[in-house]
Amino acid sequence: MKSTLPPKPPISPPPFRSLRGYAFDPSLSTTLDTAGINQAVFAVPWEPLERGPVGEYLEVMDYDPASGRFYEPADLEHPHVLAQQGLPPSETSPQSHQQMVYAVAMTTIQNFEKALGRKALWGPDKNYGFVPRLRLYPHALRGANAFYSPDLKAVLFGYFKASEEDGVHAPGSTVFTCLSHDIIAHEVTHALLDGMHRRYIEPTHPDSLAFHEAFADLVALFQHFTFPEVLRHQVAATRGDLQRGNLLAELAQEFGKALGNHGALRSALGDKPDPAALAQTLEPHARGSILVAAVFEAFTIIYGSRATDLIRLATAGSGVLPAGALPELLADELAKEAAKTAKHFLQMCIRALDYCPPVGLTFGDYLRALVTADRDMVPDDPHGYRIALIDAFRRRGIFAPGVPHLSEESLAWPGSPSLEDDTAKWLVAQLRQKSDWMRYEGDRGRIFEMSNQAGAALHAQLTAKPEKRLFQFGRVCGLALDPATAPKDIKRDKNGLPMFEVHQFRKAFRARPDGTLLNHVILTLTQRRRIQFPDGSGVYDFRGGATLILDLDTMELRYCIRRPIDDEARRAAYEAYMREELPSSLRKKFFNREGGPTGFEPFAFLHGQDWKGNPHA
Ligand SMILES: [Zn+2]
Repeated sequence: MKSTLPPKPPISPPPFRSLRGYAFDPSLSTTLDTAGINQAVFAVPWEPLERGPVGEYLEVMDYDPASGRFYEPADLEHPHVLAQQGLPPSETSPQSHQQMVYAVAMTTIQNFEKALGRKALWGPDKNYGFVPRLRLYPHALRGANAFYSPDLKAVLFGYFKASEEDGVHAPGSTVFTCLSHDIIAHEVTHALLDGMHRRYIEPTHPDSLAFHEAFADLVALFQHFTFPEVLRHQVAATRGDLQRGNLLAELAQEFGKALGNHGALRSALGDKPDPAALAQTLEPHARGSILVAAVFEAFTIIYGSRATDLIRLATAGSGVLPAGALPELLADELAKEAAKTAKHFLQMCIRALDYCPPVGLTFGDYLRALVTADRDMVPDDPHGYRIALIDAFRRRGIFAPGVPHLSEESLAWPGSPSLEDDTAKWLVAQLRQKSDWMRYEGDRGRIFEMSNQAGAALHAQLTAKPEKRLFQFGRVCGLALDPATAPKDIKRDKNGLPMFEVHQFRKAFRARPDGTLLNHVILTLTQRRRIQFPDGSGVYDFRGGATLILDLDTMELRYCIRRPIDDEARRAAYEAYMREELPSSLRKKFFNREGGPTGFEPFAFLHGQDWKGNPHA
């Protein structure tokens, strides 16, 4: 007999997978009263998962070399696991650790993709090109360290027994760095930043590695603040501090303790800003903490003004709270407001990366990138985010060289570069032709391949007819393309032209808050000079180039953010920095062309000790 049941209606996949994890590192002996609020639920984009978990972006590999064991990989597709928001958080279950690193890493990736308006790509492999998955090793080493390995395209998390002198973690407890939201987010951010700006790990300026550390902390911190349940308890407990923003700084410092030695997040958050400190601080963590403090102060100012509005509303305009506990509704609203503001800052910080030069980034450049990116996104700035940022940077002596007034207008990168008309038109037409597919392609492997092909095709077209147009284009982009005038230490191609690289070709499709769309193509061009140290002790690479931002709708070249290859002052400063400041291990890693020490991990070095090789205090 035929079934009389109607056909099954189609069921679409869920948008998210909910996974439980720790809100705070469970071994942290913190002054925060975290009882009852230590569980967070991460809503990560839905994707089919293999055991590991292994998905499109990530592969969790749980091999513990210290014990020589593979731990059983978590099966997050098991119906029992699916039915209860993932595995329960547990300090003793390796599968729960695997789930935690996956959940936080996916949350971080998702935040990057939202802010940038495109799929995230890991840095390419030297031999194999496209790297589909970052590998996460939750129990990779015994020791108080965790780091991103740019060579392995992996994050290695350590674990250790907290000593009596630890001062941060409960003595005797086993500390798993893979259970700290902040450490996971910090390390994955190093990997995402490396995927966008491969040259930023080369220490060419005191700000280079300091920026890597500061940026990883900013993402970890603001991402942590986007969970209102994390903030709510503190908001309710410290009602008096709300308007001064101290509460948030204190909370941030508590979060910073979880990072331990791994980040730049230090006491600078609560300190009075000192405009002279930057010039005297070269150690990357200490220097990075000045940048973290600047951005964080802007956040507390914006939150403070929004909180004041809410409190006025709640007190019939007086702004004076009655004695006793904060009304529950108000505490909820304040926590939500802080989370919303944190989300805005997180997106601003990430989006600014598209507006940075491809090499030699300084803190001042980053401020300019923040201001420009935000102006493109939110032209009218009703809440004063940009003014708050500029002020906070100024108070810490972070300036942009060559920008006389710290106003929004002068800090924003100058608009449309002055290419001769026909060159600009030609370039825009080329870029448009080569970027149409970007609107539709969703496969990361294809995006990687097609971007490379588009870059190579553009390179071929630029060099097909070496004439005035090419040379002029080069000058505007800070490249030396005219063989007659280019520095001799730039390698020539088979036609005698100075070589250069179309480094990256990316789309950025973003929706503005007012609903309009921003369709940009971002192109980076780089060039390299190989230069002898004056004392004959070896050679080093000095790089230049530009980031071009093209508007696909108006067909305008919006910005050209350049670092000229023939900038002698920058080169001399770089050489002096390398000779006088840089620890020899880093110098060897990045600048020894005869093959530096293999297996040297720059972030393991940075996270494990200070600049002079001493363990962190
Ligand atoms: Zn780091």
